[in-house]
Amino acid sequence: MAALATPPPRTGLVVVQALRKKHCAECRGGPVGLLMLEEGVPRCLDCADLGHLVFLPRGDTALTRRAREESSLSAVVVRFNRRKSRYERQGVLVEEAALARAEERCLADAEVRRRRRARDARRRAVEDVRFTDAFATEIRRLFPACPAERAREIAAHASLRGSGRVGRSAAGRAMTEVAVTSAVIASVRHVDTPYDQLLMSGLARYAARRRIAGVVEARLREWRATG
Ligand SMILES: [Zn+2]
Repeated sequence: MAALATPPPRTGLVVVQALRKKHCAECRGGPVGLLMLEEGVPRCLDCADLGHLVFLPRGDTALTRRAREESSLSAVVVRFNRRKSRYERQGVLVEEAALARAEERCLADAEVRRRRRARDARRRAVEDVRFTDAFATEIRRLFPACPAERAREIAAHASLRGSGRVGRSAAGRAMTEVAVTSAVIASVRHVDTPYDQLLMSGLARYAARRRIAGVVEARLREWRATG
């Protein structure tokens, strides 16, 4: 009985989820699990004029907040935790129509977020195209003899979002000569030399790079040449 006699002081109405069901002191109905304590006297929700409310379990903070906002009458439901010697919030009682309105508001929010994500994705796609174009132009500026199609491939590869490749790094974004050259070197290594096969054969990366360094240098010289 001690657990029932000391509900926590709170503003607003508090309904107790009784550890042991009790009979209502007023209508003698029950035993019921949800009780309103008025000066230690348990009353069922009907007698406490809360019988028309529906229970919304805790967990969805936004939905709970909105349901209470929408509800002209609401109550917090608590249960005594014996082990922790304290009341814990289980959820709220709100008007059914209020809960429905709150759910609609949350769904509307989700829809707003979904549309914003779609807009962001479209904007990023446009940015990617612009970035790839600019990157390809920069490759052709530094390597005039690099075929246009190849420059585009390298730029597209370098600008793949979230890939962590050079094009996405801060340096790549700024399209410094170093970043652009690194992207070109990476491409030459993988496309124009047996670098990948050397790695697959178990050769250490530094050794593989040393073995193909001449080929890479020659290709860069060739692409840097003008006229
Ligand atoms: Zn009653």
